[in-house]
Amino acid sequence: MILVTGGAGYIGSHMVWLLLEKGYDIVVIDNLEKGHKKAVLGGKFYNGDLKDKEFLEKVFSENDISAVIHFAASSLVGESVQNPIKYYYNNVYGTLNLVDTMIKHNVKKLVFSSTAAVYGEPENIPILEEDKTQPTNPYGETKLAIEKMLKWMDIAYGVKFVSLRYFNVAGSHPDGIIGEDHNPETHLIPIVLQTALGIREKVIVYGNDYNTKDGTCIRDYIHVIDLCDAHLKAMEYLEKSNKSEIFNLGNEMGFSVMEVIEKASEVVGKKIPYEIGPRRAGDPSILVASSQKAQKLLGWQQKYNSLETIISTAWKWHSTHPHGYEE
Ligand code: UDP
Repeated sequence: MILVTGGAGYIGSHMVWLLLEKGYDIVVIDNLEKGHKKAVLGGKFYNGDLKDKEFLEKVFSENDISAVIHFAASSLVGESVQNPIKYYYNNVYGTLNLVDTMIKHNVKKLVFSSTAAVYGEPENIPILEEDKTQPTNPYGETKLAIEKMLKWMDIAYGVKFVSLRYFNVAGSHPDGIIGEDHNPETHLIPIVLQTALGIREKVIVYGNDYNTKDGTCIRDYIHVIDLCDAHLKAMEYLEKSNKSEIFNLGNEMGFSVMEVIEKASEVVGKKIPYEIGPRRAGDPSILVASSQKAQKLLGWQQKYNSLETIISTAWKWHSTHPHGYEE
């Protein structure tokens, strides 16, 4: 059985869907602080928290778990600056408990959800896995701390892990059965689509004085299903190679904030109002990944990587669920 932590979240719920599609037997845990029970389309569900050792012990003793895909984490950059204790507690301590329980139950394969935020302000574009890691906020810092912790867990106890550093994850299941529902929503594509729906008055573009072609920030948007597919390939890699590894997961294509707004206007067939605002603290001007390593070692190939597909699948979800899972 595969254990998915954080399986009721945006990315976790797409992972659950994909694992079910592929016929895996799964156990899902989520504390439902941010996740939605309705987003979990199957598997055996436990509502609980990684900080609760007894809870983890129960899950591992009741199920024959062979590998773990670990999404459960707090992931808001701004909140992490305001409240680093929450981030160290949920992310670092939570993962420590998880790994401790895995070792006790002789489960030694872990796919870990990391982030491009470990790099901070990049030195080179595209960013390579061996580039300098210098997070500029506690969120990225906790993810990097976990990667370092996992290295020592491998050396001491043979826990093999694949850490996947995500760039900007977006899009949704093409049928719109599950999708992105954050509260508060901070990500560009859902904000743009909520504006198209009239739920928001306008998009505030965080700065147009960056050193880029149109002055707005450039990001590497990757489709959530391509991302989840890389997790399946990472599990297969752990089975085959029994070696720990770190991979970037991105599209290798950068799009500016203005390009996203323009493409979204095309997809929804109407103008989306926006206004140029001040820069957001801590935003690097350009973040684009090299995903060559994942392509070569995992045999990963993207299927949904055009900006049009990313936005139109997200639109499928938002236009049919304007208030997310609430309805
Ligand atoms: N952004 C923006 N307005 C918004 C939300 C985001 O201009 O309301 C910009 C943000 O500054 C960044 C890009 O869109 O350059 C993507 O931001 P997001 O929060 O989606 O992801 P991040 O890059 O922070 O992980």
